[in-house]
Amino acid sequence: MKLIILDRDGVINQDSDQFIKRPDEWKPIPGSLEAIARLNQAGYRVVVATNQSGVGRGLFDMAMLNDIHAKMHKSVVNAGGRIDAVFYCPHSAEEKCACRKPLPGMYLEIAERYDTALQEVYVVGDSLRDLQAAAAVAALPILVLTGKGEKTEKAGGLPAGTQVFADLATVVDRLLIL
Ligand SMILES: [Mg+2]
Ligand SMILES: [Zn+2]
Repeated sequence: MKLIILDRDGVINQDSDQFIKRPDEWKPIPGSLEAIARLNQAGYRVVVATNQSGVGRGLFDMAMLNDIHAKMHKSVVNAGGRIDAVFYCPHSAEEKCACRKPLPGMYLEIAERYDTALQEVYVVGDSLRDLQAAAAVAALPILVLTGKGEKTEKAGGLPAGTQVFADLATVVDRLLIL
């Protein structure tokens, strides 16, 4: 199965240190929605895995997170694409869950849901923890330089084999000719 896992903030939409707390704060990165549509056209199922500790911290509730994701889904549909599913970790770091990246809990859930191994699956993120979670399940880590990506690259220590691209649109340009 052609499956690709995307982080949300800093990959699909602009990141914010103040958290994305409402739908109007969710703003797509130029080219990202079209990139998702191109992945779909190439036969990829696109799945999102996102840490949303703002829920655990009480900054917004699950209903609001659903509203934000409804906007994301609609925006992708309007660009001609489809996000198959959104997996999220609502916990704060203190809750010590198994799903908050860099732990690979969400990726393992995705593997189970789609009944597929992750060895050939690309994981796109802008933070080290996205890539560490990918490495933990032997998936293929890709760093984008949008969101926190430039800082992440400068800080170094990326998992072996991490590929680095400017943004999601560039990832798709490259993937689709590989
Ligand atoms: Mg991110
Ligand atoms: Zn969690």
